[in-house]
Amino acid sequence: MNLGLPSIDENRVLASFLELVKIDSPTFAEQAIAATLEARLRAPGIAATNDLSGPHGGGNVIGRAPDTRADPAFGEPICLCAHMDTVQPGLGVKPVVEDGIVRSDGTTILGADNKQAIAAILEAIQTVFASGRSHRPFDVLFTWGEEKGHLGAHSVDLGALRATSAYVFDAGDEIGTIIAETPTAASIVATFHGRAAHAGIEPERGISAIQAAALAISRMRLGRIDLDTTANVGLIEGGTVRNAVPERAVVQMETRSMRAEAFEEQVAAMTTACQEGAAAVGGTVDIETHVSYRGFRLTPDDPIVLTAADALRRAGYEARIGRTGGGSDANTLIPRGMRAVNLGTAMKDLHSVRENVRVSDIAGLARVIVALLIR
Ligand SMILES: [Zn+2]
Repeated sequence: MNLGLPSIDENRVLASFLELVKIDSPTFAEQAIAATLEARLRAPGIAATNDLSGPHGGGNVIGRAPDTRADPAFGEPICLCAHMDTVQPGLGVKPVVEDGIVRSDGTTILGADNKQAIAAILEAIQTVFASGRSHRPFDVLFTWGEEKGHLGAHSVDLGALRATSAYVFDAGDEIGTIIAETPTAASIVATFHGRAAHAGIEPERGISAIQAAALAISRMRLGRIDLDTTANVGLIEGGTVRNAVPERAVVQMETRSMRAEAFEEQVAAMTTACQEGAAAVGGTVDIETHVSYRGFRLTPDDPIVLTAADALRRAGYEARIGRTGGGSDANTLIPRGMRAVNLGTAMKDLHSVRENVRVSDIAGLARVIVALLIR
């Protein structure tokens, strides 16, 4: 298919992707991949720096494309954005390519989330520069700490970027999907306090924090609350030994909703359930609620949506508006004053050892980015 765009070297982008997934980059240890990416950006002439905003000498990698062939007629510079960190188990990834699909060896995640996008961005830049054609002015932002609350996107100095709009490539939906609606999400950690006592000799003196937590959870609506709202209890820790009444239990929960009102209601309902559970056994509870990210809603005529849709069509994809229950760096960049959108990459089974991506979708995403950069 030739739509007037320079073609993508599928073997080259695959090799680049395989190299990237082999570099360990768990959240808070993105130094090695950041160093590699700085070098990979500099090779074609991008001015790349590390803002050192992360822990242990890590940080966001920021690149500015040279103005040599940048055509201001395209309008404002855009930012191409992907995150460098991966979830666990993600150390020592051994990618396997079979039947046009890349997977891990089954013991780790693959890291297509989000290295597919990184490989595609690097490939697109190389392709555009090699074509000698004039291109949209652009910056690159590779973030750290996305998986632990978009921390790199929180800490990046937006003044270091010329771009006022960011294209994030971090949704598992098929290529062509423009995520225009995402929820607001909160993490809720409830620490139940009871009183320890010997379970066989004087249980009357004890107050079971585990029972308080169990009562609280039994009062909660969980799962899909309505079309826009979800809630989950994801982790419980409590007690010390079998024969003691447990004095402490910690319950980690979350809720997400597309609607602000439903979000507030669900947070309040889960909070009340915790207080009632604690009160029912005579214990207490401390509740910490943290809004992980704010939702956003883009209209179909938003310029960033129109630009994305145009690039997708020129790259041979059908553009469609989608919504997702997950967040991305876009959720954090938008409240900070950047326009941003998240686009589908067709990565599959994220955050699991079954994670995989089609080779054709790695190249396809690169083609979309080429279409964003040139006419
Ligand atoms: Zn991701």
